[in-house]
Parts: sequence; C-alpha cells; structure tokens
Amino acid sequence: MSDLILPTDSSSQIYLDANATTPVLPCIAEVVSHTMQICFGNPSSSHITGIQAKHLLEQTRQKARDVIGAQHGDILFTSGATEGIQTAVVSTLIAAKEHTNPNPVLLYGATEHKAVPNTLIHWNAVLGINATVLAIPVSSDGLLDLEFIAQHAGNALMICTMAVNNETGVYQDLTAIENVIRSHNTKVAWMVDCVQALGKTALALSDTTIDYAPFSGHKLYAPKGIGVLYIRQGSAYTPFIAGGGQESGMRSGTENLPGIAGLNKLFCLLLDKTNDTFKSIDVLNSYREQLHQALVDTFGNITFNHTFALSVPTTLNFAVDELSSKEVMDLFDAAGIRISGGSACSSGANRSFVLDAMGVSDWRSENAIRLSFGPATTQAEITTACTRIRALKPILQANCLVVSDSSSPQQEACALGLTQFRHQGACCWLYVSQDKQAVIIDPIVELIPRLEKIVHTQNLTVAAILDTHAHQERCCATTLLAQALKFSLHDEHELGWPVQQTTITLPECTIERLATPGHSEDSVSYLLRCNSSQQVLFCFCGDLLLPAGLGNTAIEGGDALAMAHSLRQLSTYIAESTVICSGHDYQQCFAINWLVQQQQTPLLQALLNNELSDTEFANNKQHSDEDNLFKFATLCGYANSLQYSAAYELNAMQAKDMLTASDVYLIDTREPYEHGANNISQLFAVSPARVMNIPLSRMANALVDRQLSPQGKYILLCRSGNRSKQAATNLSQLGFTDVYNLSGGMALL
Ligand code: PLP
Repeated sequence: MSDLILPTDSSSQIYLDANATTPVLPCIAEVVSHTMQICFGNPSSSHITGIQAKHLLEQTRQKARDVIGAQHGDILFTSGATEGIQTAVVSTLIAAKEHTNPNPVLLYGATEHKAVPNTLIHWNAVLGINATVLAIPVSSDGLLDLEFIAQHAGNALMICTMAVNNETGVYQDLTAIENVIRSHNTKVAWMVDCVQALGKTALALSDTTIDYAPFSGHKLYAPKGIGVLYIRQGSAYTPFIAGGGQESGMRSGTENLPGIAGLNKLFCLLLDKTNDTFKSIDVLNSYREQLHQALVDTFGNITFNHTFALSVPTTLNFAVDELSSKEVMDLFDAAGIRISGGSACSSGANRSFVLDAMGVSDWRSENAIRLSFGPATTQAEITTACTRIRALKPILQANCLVVSDSSSPQQEACALGLTQFRHQGACCWLYVSQDKQAVIIDPIVELIPRLEKIVHTQNLTVAAILDTHAHQERCCATTLLAQALKFSLHDEHELGWPVQQTTITLPECTIERLATPGHSEDSVSYLLRCNSSQQVLFCFCGDLLLPAGLGNTAIEGGDALAMAHSLRQLSTYIAESTVICSGHDYQQCFAINWLVQQQQTPLLQALLNNELSDTEFANNKQHSDEDNLFKFATLCGYANSLQYSAAYELNAMQAKDMLTASDVYLIDTREPYEHGANNISQLFAVSPARVMNIPLSRMANALVDRQLSPQGKYILLCRSGNRSKQAATNLSQLGFTDVYNLSGGMALL
C-alpha cells in the first residue's frame, strides 16, 4: 500500500478564507503537539499524569470564561460549533416538550449558518414538537427585523440569532435584540451563534440573557474538532452525549485534551494585552481598506454586498459587475490567493441564501465572492495579497475581462474561430472570422458586458447577432446586445437574420439558415459551412438538440411531429463530424458531434434509422416531455447524463511518468486568464511544444480545427481536476481512446 502523501508547500499561497477555517498558529500547534506526546493524560485518571491533564482542562475553562466574559454559567468543551448548536437546540426542545402554546414557533435569523435552521428543523421533527420554524427577515444591511421578533417572540420556544455573519461579516446589535426579546418573552431560550465573533468583537456573555453561545476553535487558529458551548446559569440542559460522565456528566467521552490545550494557548493570546499576535480593530480596519482599494483598482466595477460600518473588518463580500464568481475565483487561484465564492456550481443557479435574504440582485447573489482574513494576519501578508490582486489587472485586460486602458498590452486572447460562453446551463456562441467579423448566436443578457468588451477591445466588426428562436428565458438579449454594440439588427422578427440574403458570407465560411421547428414554431438552425471543403463544421441548433438530448416540445409552440421532420431534414445537411452547438448544455458536455449525438440519444437514433415513423417518434416524445415536465425545472429540454467512459485518472507521479514518452501531450483546459505564474511545461519537465491550451470554451473549435487527433495520447489538467475530467469524458465519447485526467488537477501537484 502506498504511503500517505500530503501536499507540502503552502508558503507561496495567500490564504484569504479565514471564515471557512484558519491555519493553526505555530505556538498553538506546539502546545497541541506537547499535549499529545508529553502531557497526554486522561483527565479522569487519578495518577499524576491524569491530574496534570485535569488541571490543564480546568485552567482552559477558566480562561474561556475570561475571554467571553462569562463568570457564571457552564462552559462545556465540544467538538465544535455544530455540536454546540445541537446541544442547545435539543436541551431547549426537550424542556419545551410539554408546552401548551397552541401556535408554537422556533425563530432563527434568515442569515444564520445552515447548521442552525437545519438543526431546528431536524429536532423539531424528531422530538415531535411540531412548532412552526420561522426565519426572521433581515434588512438590506443584513440586520434582523426587530418588529418581526416582537411580533412572534411571545409564541417562541426558542430564538436563534448570530453575533457575526460568516458570509458578510455583518454584526447584529445584540442589545437591541435582547431588549425586544425580553420585553415580549422573559423565558424563551435564546441562542447566539458566536463562532465568527471570537477575537473580532468584545463579548460579555454573563451580562446578557443569552442562554446558549457556541464557539469553534478552528475559526481562530486552534485545531478542528474543538469548541466551547456557554450555557447560562439555570437554562435548560440535557446531555447530548451520554457515557462515562465526563464534563460533570454534561458531555461524556474522553476530553479532546490536545484541542483543549490549543484553546488554552489561543485564550492566553487573546487575554495578553501586551501580545500583538492579534491586531487591534484599527489595524484590521486598515487591512480591509487596503484590500478594498486593491480590488477597486483591479476590477473597477465592483459592488460590496455589505456596509463596512456594520461589519467586522475581517470580511469583504463583493461581486464584480461583469465577472462570474467562477472567473474571479479562478483568477485568484491562479494568483495563489485562496478565497471563497458563494456560487461554486456551474450547471445550475447556486446562490447565496444570505445575500438573497438581504435582497441583493440575482447577479450579486450568484456571483458573490468572500474574502476573509483572521485577526492574526500580518501587514506583510496584506501587502503581498494587494500586490498579487493588482497584478491581475493586465491579465484581465488582455483577456477582455475588464475595460482596458490604452497603456495595457493588447493580446489576442479572443482567438479566431468559435468560442462558447456559458451562463449557468445556457450557451452563447461567438464566431470570429479571419478578417475579424463577429457572428454572435443566442446571446445571454448576463453576458452582454463581456461580449461588448470583446467586440470593442478586439476591434471586431459585427456581421450578425442571431437567435435560434425567441427564447422564453433570454428575452431582449439580442436587442440589448445590438444596442450596446451600436449594431442595427437586420430584422428582429427574423431572429436577426438579414432577410434579403440567403447566406452570411465570411472569408473562410458561409452561414446558412434552416427552419427547424419542433421546440418552437420559429426555431431555426444555422449551419456554418467551410468554403473550401463544403463541410458543415458547426450546427447552431438552439434547443432543437441538447448534448445527448432533444429540446422540449411540451411548451407553447412545441410540436413533436414538426421536430421529427426537422431532425430528418437536418440530417441531410450535416456530417457525422459536424459539431452540434446547442442553446443549452446542462450536463457540461461542451462539444459533441452529430455521430455521438445520435449514439447518445436513443430516440433520435431510432428516428434516423427508421425504426420509428415520424408519428411514432412524436407520440413517444410527447409522452416523455409531458412526464419530464413534472420531474425537471428546465424549460428547454432534457438530456441524459453522459456516461463516464474510459477517462482514466492519473496522479501527478503517474502523469509525469507517462510524459517521459515523447508522444504524450498535456492539455491545459483552464482559461487563459487562469494561468498566472504557473509554467506547466516546467512543472512537468516537458518541452512547451507538448503543452496545448484548450479551454473548455474552445473545445468545439479545437475539434473542428483538428488540433486534436482521436489517435493522440493526452493528459488533461485544470485547477481541481473537475473540468479536465469533463473534457476527458467528452473526448473519450468522441472516440479518443488515450485520454487521461490529472486527478485533483493543479491543486494536488
Ligand atoms: N456557525 C457559523 C457562523 C459558522 O461560520 C460555522 C462554520 O462555518 C459554524 C457555525 C459551524 O462550526 P463548526 O465547523 O465548528 O461545526
């Protein structure tokens, strides 16, 4: 069996994701290690080693009291905040089991960490309390609606709020919340999640009527798996973990002494006013201002999702007006800066419920970026972070991601040929001819600023902006884009097609229009035919076909019989190698040709092989579409998931080994702006000629350009191994037999 291999060098990374977790400070790690090896006793043992351990345990408990201002009440060591939250909720709900309130409610702030509502919902059901679980709305600043609390507090069995929000850093006015709760209900159990407040705001818990306050070590430089729960004197309590009676019977199980020792050292640092490990609020504010300036200087149009004056200085949450969170994250990753995005999923909408509760726009919620640092961050780290952020500006400009200024280098990042742009599951296509004429097909509203910049910075002349049908969910994108580009649309009613022409002629190719009704009455496909070979290279079919699927016909204007005719007709125009460019790609296929499209879509294959008549196809399709209406939220069509075929996974060692053979090539599937300082050929010790850059957005083009050969041997890589796995799956489906994926991508190198 192979030995454990851990990534080693993190020295070059700038870690700005402290709200997720923090590294253990060296002085804390030292204490933890000492407690594992030397002072390792079990606090329940009666010998000296045990007594020493017990002493350390109790000393830590006292320091916890000092740090959180809790001279009364219980301090319990837990495995972390989630356990603290369970304990508080279970204790409260068990005590409330016999309540007589006819309309009981459990209240929680709409921006709480998911651990809170999920715990309330879970135990409310398990314990049969049957209370209504209600979210307390927040204002656009993220502050709890006190009137709502006033209205419902009388019926509340428990109220859960938080001191500082983990996504935005917004802190609540706990005194105001307390006043409103207690003026309506003196008895209700009140939990305040203090996880993100420790070390960032002063706490005096025994001066309040807070009943429960969970804390977590790993959010402030202590190890994972250790936390503290404060319980007010007299508040309901039921042990959540029973057993050997440790923690005075309140939480059994041998105590996590190394973790507790780590907390002890952390508390020492927090209490020692002469120690400058933790920076003052003024210093932290100046860090935030420096990062803020660097972000504005680099990205220009950026919107912060919270008011700085109402937030702790260690969190910045923002959206770049014209960049998706994925693009911003990829850029930061390439610059060696670790940040977090609210939206990680690329196949569907992934939004921030915290920002939604604050009522921010869809774009800001879907593309939020969180940058967070810990209070022990040094000025040197902030300076390096700002330098690296500013170093992104020329990369952004060269890739048309932000407005360029005249002094910036003008690189050809928008390559000629076909590029795919995606927004969630929707696809838009840009074809740039050799003489820099642009044809844009199926534009998407959210991508208009990006397309506008590409056209301007690359000096493209717009030849046409086309829609494949009047998309129900992309209304006005074509008109808005035409306005932005000052392009007069040929004919809006003809989906942008120049009606007086039969083709759009470009130097190397010609675009034809073919009516392909089925998904809608007005659906057309555009066929891009090579002038020299006369082959149709690309078929822009809108929602007639989705990769490995067919468009939906169970919508207004949909007609399955017409779809059968359209598919048959289309098949007479296009070749097996024609790349199908759909209006949607829900399962991240990126590039599929007509041959594979048929193989992956049984109904289509049966129709074209004449195993089904048009009427049989239509009946079949109609039924499945009606069925799918209830199963899926997507309007446009349904696709089978692509089967994962021979895309072999390699680790870095295996990849390097394989690359010693001279006929193996590396394909870097990252976008050009992600490359940063990484030199792939150096990292793998191969000549630059054996590294190809084919981002997923250019995969369709690469297939047609014959940059890749089905007989070639390729190792695909990206940042995390996910995109390259998609690309490898994609290529193997297209008949490539020797494609491998670098598992874990650049992250595990
Ligand atoms: N509450 C908040 C506000 C948090 O940020 C987190 C962690 O992300 C938790 C609770 C859960 O903490 P733990 O990881 O210690 O269970």
